[in-house]
Amino acid sequence: MHLPPFKNEPFLDFTDERNAVAMAAAVAKVEAELGREYLLVINGERIQTGDLLTSYNPSAFKQVVGRVHRATQEQADQAVRTANEAFKTWQYTSAEHRASYLVKASAEMRRRKLEFNAWLVLEAGKSWAEAEADTAEAIDFMEFYARQALRFAESQPLTQSPLQDEVNEAFYIPLGAGIVIPPWNFPLAILAGMATAAVVAGNTVVLKPSSDTPVIAAKFFELMESVGLPPGVMNFLPCSGGQVGDFLVAHPQTRFISFTGSMEVGLHINELAAKTSPGQLWIKRVVAEMGGKDTIVVDETANLDEAAAGIVASAFGYSGQKCSACSRAVIVSSVYDQVLEKVAERTAQLTVGDVKTGKVFTGPVASKKQFDSISNYIEIGKQEGRIVVGGGQHELANEGWYIQPTIVADVAPKARISQEEIFGPVLALIKAENFDDALNIANNTQFGLTGAFYSNSRIRIDRAKREFHVGNLYINRKCTGALVDVHPFGGFNMSGTDSKAGGRDYLLLFLQAKSVAEKY
Ligand code: NAP
Ligand code: MG
Repeated sequence: MHLPPFKNEPFLDFTDERNAVAMAAAVAKVEAELGREYLLVINGERIQTGDLLTSYNPSAFKQVVGRVHRATQEQADQAVRTANEAFKTWQYTSAEHRASYLVKASAEMRRRKLEFNAWLVLEAGKSWAEAEADTAEAIDFMEFYARQALRFAESQPLTQSPLQDEVNEAFYIPLGAGIVIPPWNFPLAILAGMATAAVVAGNTVVLKPSSDTPVIAAKFFELMESVGLPPGVMNFLPCSGGQVGDFLVAHPQTRFISFTGSMEVGLHINELAAKTSPGQLWIKRVVAEMGGKDTIVVDETANLDEAAAGIVASAFGYSGQKCSACSRAVIVSSVYDQVLEKVAERTAQLTVGDVKTGKVFTGPVASKKQFDSISNYIEIGKQEGRIVVGGGQHELANEGWYIQPTIVADVAPKARISQEEIFGPVLALIKAENFDDALNIANNTQFGLTGAFYSNSRIRIDRAKREFHVGNLYINRKCTGALVDVHPFGGFNMSGTDSKAGGRDYLLLFLQAKSVAEKY
């Protein structure tokens, strides 16, 4: 198979009236499909369990998006065994064959892009533009990993043995059956990326979607079925992470766990996976991409308007619910008041409401759980700083999980809202004495995912490149919006295992190398 070079999927521009009309039609079409039931799929068989999980639209929380059957431990066991059974043959299929499913799936997703966008709008509360970015990234992951699988299947360079008549080779083989556990915030892109990377490398998976966004997951799974992915290679297992997650992770036939989500759950999975279960033949591999406390630093040489625009876009896009979202702006004292004013002015203009119509900048937060947790942090913020924008109740808070974009100024570097991941539209502003102080503050949390630095000082930019300890650093631009193979993504410290999703090393996490010497 010869594939043209990888290119990032372009984003549809919804200020173009034709695109806006088409998107509105897609939302209406998907709205007519709300409320349906989705079943577990193990080995291609649909299984009804009767234990229904209801997914609601966070923009209008009385609206049911769908109902999804949840697995018990017994079905989880069946899914892991099935994946192991399917691995027996799938591991020996060619990389070209496996890659062909991803390419077909991405083509199909491209054809149905607006429909996938609409599901993201209605189940995850994404604005049209954010939904478009999520779907485009899912397409990118599939296109990119298909190409990477072909690359890793090529013959690997070795030094030949000094012994005569010995021929040496090294090649990559898959690991086995793994559990794929995505979060709700990129319910299509991260889910599709993690699941298809594992599968294209020759592994089989049990896909356990987030309980907040199981319908989008079901739609993705149906898409993989529609392109003919053999039964058992991917199994669809909605279930409660709290109740069935430990069983899946601890299962002796689980070879790896690919997780993206919170630090608490990631560390718990890592610990549990390290314990050997009776009958287990391997050390489980854990890839865990976790939370962040992402900081934008602004010094006195920066273009302050651009800095303010970058802070606002990074902090409040998708209501701050990106692992890359800016949740702290650290500003040197001589320009602190100016930046504060510019950020506040822009933030006050943001519109928050039902994302369905495509008319608002951002929508609600994802769930009651998020709403309660963020609201609590806003109360803490009132103690720890000065509310400059937001902080009150949104006028539609009795219809959807809406929270006003909120800015808390004059926050101390070690305050709770400066240290803990909030994962909502809450931005802390911190005054630093100078650049050195700002850099120290930027590095003072347990996380290390993304960060940005606005400056026109070459010396300081070079220092930031060395000393600002984050997996994804951006200079003079916002800290969100990573693109596949342009900004391979993953963080340091408690932000995870730095897997660099969408990067050229990513598939190695799902492979192991075999070295063969043959004497002729
Ligand atoms: P979460 O609460 O940790 O949940 C993530 C997934 O883990 C869900 O599917 C959840 O299932 C499952 N889970 C929960 N307990 C489990 C257990 N004991 N065993 C196995 N699985 C279990 O995170 P979230 O709220 O969905 O996502 C937000 C978090 O993800 C934030 O911290 C954000 O920073 C992080 N994130 C990181 C990245 C990155 O690349 N570093 C990207 C996106 C998001 P249930 O839904 O059924 O509970
Ligand atoms: Mg929901």
